[in-house]
Amino acid sequence: MSAPNKSYDPVEVETLKPEEIERMRDEALAAFAAADSLDALHEAKVAQTGPTSPLALANREIGALPPHAKAEAGKRVGQARGAVNKALAARQVELEAERDARVLVEEAVDVTLPYDRVPSGARHPLTTMMERVADVFVAMGYEVAEGPEAEAEWFNFDALNFLPDHPARQMQDTFFVQGPKGTDESGSGVVLRTHTSPVQARALLDRELPVYIVCPGRVFRTDELDATHTPVFHQIELLAVDEGLTMADLKGTLDHMVQALFGADMKTRLRPNFFPFTEPSAEMDMLCYVCKGESIGNPDRPCRTCSSEGWIELGGCGMVNPRVLTACGVDPEKYSGFAFGFGIERMLMFRHNVEDMRDMVEGDVRFTRPFGMEI
Ligand SMILES: [Zn+2]
Repeated sequence: MSAPNKSYDPVEVETLKPEEIERMRDEALAAFAAADSLDALHEAKVAQTGPTSPLALANREIGALPPHAKAEAGKRVGQARGAVNKALAARQVELEAERDARVLVEEAVDVTLPYDRVPSGARHPLTTMMERVADVFVAMGYEVAEGPEAEAEWFNFDALNFLPDHPARQMQDTFFVQGPKGTDESGSGVVLRTHTSPVQARALLDRELPVYIVCPGRVFRTDELDATHTPVFHQIELLAVDEGLTMADLKGTLDHMVQALFGADMKTRLRPNFFPFTEPSAEMDMLCYVCKGESIGNPDRPCRTCSSEGWIELGGCGMVNPRVLTACGVDPEKYSGFAFGFGIERMLMFRHNVEDMRDMVEGDVRFTRPFGMEI
């Protein structure tokens, strides 16, 4: 700050001369006009209106003037500062409008551009298929039950009425985690379960009767991977144990399942077969969902899906063997039950015309993508 002005004349104070104030004002206005961005304008604002700006310093000189000169100098500086602030505000509005317009252009999204983002993942079609089948039974009041994949030999074979010399118990068919049970019956081996049926035995031992369960899961057999075999595959198994259940209940349940999965005009048929854990046992076929049986004996309308046989083999079923019920602590005089199971890979193969089972395990998204992003 300058020393008090002895002459009492404001024009003698250099920074308060009218032309000097005008020069400061014009310099500020030019600086604002030259600012071509909001950042540049902010710098100009600090330089031209901040506490060390020429006009702020001039304003501080007023205090040193005699009283009669203060008013005139104050008015001059005040007008100049007013003009500067007004110009600053106007330029601010201009630059903000320019920025908003630019952002609108730069950040515009063209919704007609091709989709090029990385597609999100989806569940494997085997998982989706398995859950879709399980859902049919959950809707009928069944519970989903699961069991261990490394299973006691007893649950996998003995409880299900597989005799000790059954060929499935040989190491060339079954993965043994812990040695097979010896002929002297000492100790029980541990196997990678060869079917989902041991879950039935576990459920009968664990749960209160009646039991209505559906058991989806992964199973293992010592097959080489080829077009129709894989050592790891999926099954879904059903078990109902209650008083008074008959083959008619089994048949009605099977018909409902194929109708829920393939359409209201579907049906099933049973052919006699043998399984250790059911008696009587049957092979279950479903009507070919493509030709609906119309290709049988009709050379004019051959069907590739069923080889013109009209029916497609789906899986095995039957009434639970009383010996299995007894092994699981259920009185076969009072209770009866039915069970059936089938392979998910097989169902996926004929439902979606998959010709090579290896496609399902190789993890190539070109295989899974056409199944869609169902989750
Ligand atoms: Zn057919």
